[in-house]
Amino acid sequence: MSYDFDLFVIGAGSGGVRASRMAASFGARVAVAESTYLGGTCVNVGCVPKKLFVYGSHFAHDVEDSAAYGWDAQVNDFDWPTLRDNKSREIERLNGIYRTLLDNAGVTLFEGRAVLLDAHTLEIDGRQVTAERILVATGSRPSRPDFPGSEHVIVSDDAFYLPEFPKRVMVLGGGYIAVEFAGIFKGLGAEVDLIYRGDVPLRGFDLGIRKFVLDEIRKQGIRVHLNTVVESLEHSDDGDSVKLSNGETLDVDFVMAAIGRRPNTENLGLEAAGVKLSEGNAVIVDDAFQTSVPGIYAIGDVIDRFQLTPVAIAEAMVLTANLYNGESRTMDYDNIATAVFCQPNIGTCGLTEEEAAARYEIDVFESTFKPMKHTLTGRDEKTMMKLIVRRSDDRVVGIHMAGPDAGEIIQGMAVAMQSGATKAHFDRTIGIHPTAAEEFVTMREKRA
Ligand code: FAD
Ligand code: NDP
Repeated sequence: MSYDFDLFVIGAGSGGVRASRMAASFGARVAVAESTYLGGTCVNVGCVPKKLFVYGSHFAHDVEDSAAYGWDAQVNDFDWPTLRDNKSREIERLNGIYRTLLDNAGVTLFEGRAVLLDAHTLEIDGRQVTAERILVATGSRPSRPDFPGSEHVIVSDDAFYLPEFPKRVMVLGGGYIAVEFAGIFKGLGAEVDLIYRGDVPLRGFDLGIRKFVLDEIRKQGIRVHLNTVVESLEHSDDGDSVKLSNGETLDVDFVMAAIGRRPNTENLGLEAAGVKLSEGNAVIVDDAFQTSVPGIYAIGDVIDRFQLTPVAIAEAMVLTANLYNGESRTMDYDNIATAVFCQPNIGTCGLTEEEAAARYEIDVFESTFKPMKHTLTGRDEKTMMKLIVRRSDDRVVGIHMAGPDAGEIIQGMAVAMQSGATKAHFDRTIGIHPTAAEEFVTMREKRA
C-alpha cells in the first residue's frame, strides 16, 4: 500500500521538530502537524522565555551590588510590559526560524490539530492523510490543582503573558517550575509565598543541595511554607484570599500552580488506534520508542521519562537514526545533566548522595563558600559544591552545585562524567584561577 508520507509527526515541539528534520535528512517523506505554536513548550512557554525572565530578575541585585565596586547607580522602576513584550518578540522570531528549518528540510507542515483515525490515518481539520509510520510528540501541559476556588489559579503558560506585574504572588509546588518562578517573581520585585506540601523542595535532587537552596531562597525573602497545602481560595476584584492547611490565610494578587505536567494524550484518537497508556496517561513505549501498536512511536514529554528538551531531542535522534538510517542506537538515560534556574542556580549530573550511598561505598567531597564577587558587596549569598565518589574504583558518580552559573559549569563536568572520570582525574586537572569552578578540582578533604 502506498501512503501519503513515510512519517507523520504529531507536534512540532522540541522532539517533533528534530525528528521531522532528521527523518527528512535521511530521505523520508515527512509531515508534521502543529496545533498551537512552532517550537512547542520550550520555545513558547518553557525554557526560552523562562531563561529570559531569569536574566531580567537579576538586574536589581546587580545594580545594588555595583555600589561596592564604585558605581553610582540605583534601581528605579521595573516596567513589566517591556520585558514581557521584548520576550514575546524574540519568541516570534524563533517561531519563524522553526518554520524556515522545517521548510528547508522539505518537511510538509500542517497547521492544525491532528487526530488518529487508525494506525495509518490521521485527520487534520477535516483533511485525511495517511502515513506508514506515526510519531506522537505531543508534549505535556500544566496539571491544575483541585480545591474550592482552584479555577482562579493560573499556571506557567499564563505567567508569560500577565497583563500586569503582581505585587504579591503565591506559588504552589516545590519542583523546577515553582522554585524558578518564585525566584523570577521575587527578583522582579513581587512579594512571594511558596507553598510546598513536603519537607524540602526539589524532591529528586541531592538532599544537601536542596537544604542549601532552601536556605538561600529564604535569605532572598521568599517566604517558604513547608508541609502545607491550599485548602480553599476566595477570589475577588482585589485578588485571592487563600486558606492554607497550616491555619494561615494569605491575601495575594494571584496564585500560580506548578504541580507537575500531564502528558497530552487526550482526544488524540490513541484509544481508537489501540495505543496503550500508563496510569498517569503517558504513552507506553519500548526501548525503540514503539508504542503497543507497531508503526506508532512516541517521544518526549508525552512518554514522561524525563521532561527535558535535550532528552526529547536525543530521543528523536535515536528513533530516526534507527528507522531511516539503518542504525541500532539506544537511548542512554544515565548521567543526564540538568539545571534549575532558581537563584542560586542548581546544576547536577549523576547520582545524588542518597542514591549513591544506597548502591555503593562512597566518599563525599563538599565545599561551601562565599562567591568572590560578594567579598566586596557583602551580599549574604553562598555557593555549594559536591562530588560523590565511588570508593571501589574512584569513579565520580555524582556532581552537584548550587551557585552562580551552575548550569554552565556542570555542563562541562557532565562530559567528564560521561567519559568515566575518576577523582584522581579531577585532582590531576589544573584549575582556572580565580573561578568558582576550580573548587571542583581542588577539593581534597573527604567530608566526615
Ligand atoms: P513540546 O515541546 O511540548 O511539543 C509538543 C507540541 O505538540 C506542542 O507544540 C503542542 O502544541 C503540539 N500538539 C499537541 N497535541 C497536538 C495535536 N493533536 N496536533 C498537533 N499538534 C499537537 N526543559 C529543559 O530542558 N530546560 C529548561 O530550562 C526547561 N524549562 C521549562 C520551563 C517551563 C515553564 C516548562 C513548562 C518546561 C520547561 N522545560 C525545560 C521542559 C521542556 O519544555 C519540555 O521537556 C520539552 O518542550 C518537551 O518537548 P516535546 O517535544 O516532548 O513537547
Ligand atoms: P515537578 O514534577 O518538577 O514538580 C512538581 C511539584 O509539585 C513537586 O514539588 C510536587 O510535590 C508538587 N505537587 C504535585 N502534585 C501536587 C498537588 N496535588 N498539590 C500540591 N503539590 C503538588 O513539576 P513542574 O511543574 O515544576 O515541572 C514539570 C517538569 O518540567 C519538570 O519536572 C522538568 O522535567 C521540566 N522543567 C525543567 C526545567 C529545567 O530544566 N530547568 C524548568 C521547568 C520545568 P512532591 O515533591 O511532593 O511530589
